[in-house]
Amino acid sequence: MLLDYNSLLLAIAFSGSSLCLTLFMAWLVSKRERYLLAGSSAMLLVVAGAGMFALYTIDMLPLVGLASFALLILGFIAAYAAARQFGRREASSRTLALFALASVVPVAVPFLLGYDGLGSILGNCIAAAILFAVARIYWGMRREAPLPLAVVAALYVTVGVSFLICGIMIAVVSPLVLQGPLENWAEDLNVIVSIIGITGIGALSLALNQSREAQIHRNDALTDGLTGLLNRRALFDRFGVENLPALTAVIVFDLDEFKNVNDQYGHATGDEVLRRFTAAITHNVRPTDVAARLGGEEFALVLPRCTPEMAALMAERIRASFESEVVDTDAGPLHCTVSAGFAVPDGGNASFGSVLRGADNALYLAKRSGRNRVASWGLHLVA
Ligand code: GH3
Ligand code: MG
Ligand code: MG
Repeated sequence: MLLDYNSLLLAIAFSGSSLCLTLFMAWLVSKRERYLLAGSSAMLLVVAGAGMFALYTIDMLPLVGLASFALLILGFIAAYAAARQFGRREASSRTLALFALASVVPVAVPFLLGYDGLGSILGNCIAAAILFAVARIYWGMRREAPLPLAVVAALYVTVGVSFLICGIMIAVVSPLVLQGPLENWAEDLNVIVSIIGITGIGALSLALNQSREAQIHRNDALTDGLTGLLNRRALFDRFGVENLPALTAVIVFDLDEFKNVNDQYGHATGDEVLRRFTAAITHNVRPTDVAARLGGEEFALVLPRCTPEMAALMAERIRASFESEVVDTDAGPLHCTVSAGFAVPDGGNASFGSVLRGADNALYLAKRSGRNRVASWGLHLVA
């Protein structure tokens, strides 16, 4: 072999330590992503386990062998915890402690009784089982990022299989007591696969963290913080470029005399009213309709496959539903109203911007004719 076994173990120590540090730094930057900390701890434990194993190959002291397997198994359990946290399905500390106990005790007993062969077989098989469990978690989450998560799962399976083969080899050669350091192709393969696994999994974890962060920022940039609806930019991103399909209606809502609400009841009550109006929209729309907060107390609703009559009904339903809302305040119950205007593409060939302008014109009509009503633009129909 080009490199001796201990040099390979040293390679694990180097790559594992640098990834441990990198994951820890990444966690310092985004502390809510706790899987980065669990991943960093996993790397630390695996590196310590590999170091212990290097010592074990020198004197074959059972306690050192046991410490090596225990550290490795705990490292893999930390990787399991990290996988659960990555999927936002965190395992409780109690579950993890029981998991650790149930995994380490079956290895500890034979080692302590002097059966280091049996201890090693069990250690390898339990390590493999935990790695398969981790792989299963990532495989189950591959919808988020199909290729990277499938590769992470495959890497865990591959490292797991290499541990399993080591266990089988020991079972064949010296099942109860080891006759000296283990020197066979399975052990070499295990270390090489582990180096590839550690670096691959570490690098992919960092990449997944980056893309998750980017996704969070993208969502934040397109969502209105107060109501959770799309914001103006998101609405224009979605509809701003192409002409709207023929049967698409756009409704614009503007709360009536909203400045007075803020002035008389305070800004916090004003915010509550905005959330109530959001609820009035979301409770009435169809799943295919798109609602957005254009800014301030103005909202827009885009209704695909919708006739002008259906748009008038929808606007009226939301208006009436909001009118019946009562907001309890320190200064007594508060009733609010909203005006709405809607428009549809003229002859089936109009940009989103122009239909929105039509809806705005209709809204202006609704305000001028007394508020708390729905008006249309360019149609012979006023609801
Ligand atoms: P009109 O019936 O003509 O629409 O009158 P209005 O008072 O609703 O209209 P105006 O444009 O004068 O006032 C809008 C108010 O909306 C002014 C602003 O303080 C308030 N506003 C805008 N954004 C928010 C917000 O996020 N929270 C609260 N509480 N108020 C907001
Ligand atoms: Mg306004
Ligand atoms: Mg208003």
